[in-house]
Amino acid sequence: MTGNSVIFIIMEKKPPEKAGRREFLRLSALGTAGAFAAPAIGAFSGKPEIKATGSFPGILSGKHKRAGIALIGLGHYSADLLAPALQETEIAFLAGIVAGPMDNEKAWKEKYKIPQKNIYNYDNFDEIAHNRDINIVYVVLPNSMHKEFTIRAANAGKHVICEKPMAMNAGECIEMINACRQNNVGLSIGYRLHYEPYNQEIMRLGQEKVFGNVLHITCGSAWRNTSFDTWRWQKEMGGGAMMDMGVYPLQAARYVTGEEPLFVSAQTFVTRPGKFEGVDEVTSFQLEFPGGTIATLDTGFHANYDHLYVFAEKGWFELRPYSSYRGISGRTSKGELIFPEINQQAAQMDEDAANMMAGRPLRVPGEEGLRDMLVVDAVFESIRTGRPVIMAGPAGQEENRPGGLVQ
Ligand code: NAD
Repeated sequence: MTGNSVIFIIMEKKPPEKAGRREFLRLSALGTAGAFAAPAIGAFSGKPEIKATGSFPGILSGKHKRAGIALIGLGHYSADLLAPALQETEIAFLAGIVAGPMDNEKAWKEKYKIPQKNIYNYDNFDEIAHNRDINIVYVVLPNSMHKEFTIRAANAGKHVICEKPMAMNAGECIEMINACRQNNVGLSIGYRLHYEPYNQEIMRLGQEKVFGNVLHITCGSAWRNTSFDTWRWQKEMGGGAMMDMGVYPLQAARYVTGEEPLFVSAQTFVTRPGKFEGVDEVTSFQLEFPGGTIATLDTGFHANYDHLYVFAEKGWFELRPYSSYRGISGRTSKGELIFPEINQQAAQMDEDAANMMAGRPLRVPGEEGLRDMLVVDAVFESIRTGRPVIMAGPAGQEENRPGGLVQ
């Protein structure tokens, strides 16, 4: 993403820990370690570094093995989407699981023929450092647990894919990024839509200004959640609609413009009072971007909707649905968009695995999750204060604003 630079803490570069060091040396032997030996977090700028998708023949040929993934968090997303996708992948494969007290370890072991030596629990998880079958840990836990297990996986020398939202707040994201950098392991965030052809086209139409400057984006992603007894309704677990689904319209606004917002304002609504405590049920938020685009975005646990509309100087483009697992459909003011339907999770894990094993830059690195969490933090601040939030950025940013936000 291009953007208004946001400066964060500068991390001191330390030698990798033992297990990470081994991986680093192994990657160095392949001549590819540089991508993870990145400099400290500094000014964020630049578009996603990787353009290529598709096959990575080098990984599969010769002495190179496939990349073993261990899933931690064996609930809905792992059971219904990721594990089935890992039966279709060509580079990544399901090598292991990390089962919690609520998970049915036996059923997973039998269904996917997982050897006992590749099955861990939350207590003995750190021993995964010694398991050569497992290259990547995929964190699919409730949001409040992402930081702990990402850092433990990194310290064990494993690459990490972490589900969205990356963590509870931007501060946690920085800790996770630093842990992965210190261990020279890759960190990718599970934003599957970056690997999906319709959304990739929308990024191109917006960022390359194919229809001129983008004037307005309206986007919403929500579902009617009636499972009141789950972690998604608990604040301390990272519940709430903004954390669960709000990051999708936020992502869309950021990847259509290729910019970081200057101003954030937000409001929250309750349609079922008394059903939950402390989490947002329905949230609307508005962003103003440096190029002048206004985005009005919605999320919630109250209704089922999934749409992205973009209005530009010389036309419009839209996806509806835009963020579903299947059936994405789109059109522009010039006609229909037609792309193949893919298995988003399989494409995501194969590309991430290939790039991690080769030490190449990742399409959706941890920094991308951090950029989102900065805005999510601002959304919650705006709800709390009832005022718009000016995002941190270069001095004089306020004067650069293209228009005006009435406070
Ligand atoms: P889930 O509730 O179905 O599963 C949660 C998992 O965490 C289970 O294995 C459970 O045993 C474990 N767990 C450990 N401690 C727990 C606790 N205290 N309470 C509840 N569960 C606990 O959740 P899910 O829908 O699979 O979501 C997991 C993660 O995946 C979340 O971060 C979510 O945002 C993300 N997700 C992403 C997508 C996507 O399209 N990228 C889709 C769904 C979920």
